[in-house]
Amino acid sequence: MSSEACGLYDDRHQRKKGAKMSFTKRWIEEDGPKVQAPASHKLDLHENALDSFNEALTRFKEGTGGNVKAYKFAIQHLSHSIELLFKSHIAQMHPLLIYKNPFTAKPLDREMTIGLWDAVQFLKNSGDPIGKDFEADLLWLKKLRNEIEHSRFDMDVATVRATMGRLVEAIKDFHDHFDDDLSAFVTKGNLPLFEELSDEYRRSLGEARAKAAASTQDGETHDCEFCGERDTGARIDGEVKCQYCGESNYTVDCLRCGADELVSDATLWNDEDGRSDYLCSSCYAHYQSLVAAD
Ligand SMILES: [Zn+2]
Ligand SMILES: [Zn+2]
Repeated sequence: MSSEACGLYDDRHQRKKGAKMSFTKRWIEEDGPKVQAPASHKLDLHENALDSFNEALTRFKEGTGGNVKAYKFAIQHLSHSIELLFKSHIAQMHPLLIYKNPFTAKPLDREMTIGLWDAVQFLKNSGDPIGKDFEADLLWLKKLRNEIEHSRFDMDVATVRATMGRLVEAIKDFHDHFDDDLSAFVTKGNLPLFEELSDEYRRSLGEARAKAAASTQDGETHDCEFCGERDTGARIDGEVKCQYCGESNYTVDCLRCGADELVSDATLWNDEDGRSDYLCSSCYAHYQSLVAAD
């Protein structure tokens, strides 16, 4: 078969000749500069994803600082950033994959792009599914976002903080796995919060401190004598309850002298028959000196 007779060959031959030119450049030259080039679109997606991610962190920080309404914007920005991040990941496989109909003859800038759940399904189909917990948190985020849009938003700050924290960690894992270290794209001012949220221990501690501040009845938070964490205790009905380890500090009467002392300072002397007897620290010191003298 001669080359003239085969249109397909011609087409391929032409492509090969043009191959030195980048895909983006060819795209612009063939369709005019008004059509957005898919390769640069990919870059925009990633940049916009990270802009939204940083904006979400900024708003989250405002929420932590007492402006509870800011969490609402944090949720919207986080949700947007995840969608863009997934799309930018998919665009790396092929720029046209972000369109609902990549086979259209219409200009692509008029074509709808895929949504978050298309992206999630694509990742599943391509053998790179996101984790079950991540997906469950995304569903929660979607529901909350809908509620915000329809002004039916009922804020449960503790849940919002906890779930957003898990999502930030999941986004970090996703980004670190497929791209670069996400922390490199986080603004300096947001870095401490980002590090807190993406680390489970620090995140739980942050949640406990926020919970303590919100529930304490004496206007201040207290250090925990049991786990040693700072500002995790809330005074509730005469007890200081740690929102991190769950232990409570309250006063007990000394078995020997009757003085009251914090349970964390007293020594448990006897806990038989369903009752607990304590010795205060000075009575216990006295007992120890007697034992030492023996
Ligand atoms: Zn504690
Ligand atoms: Zn005593």
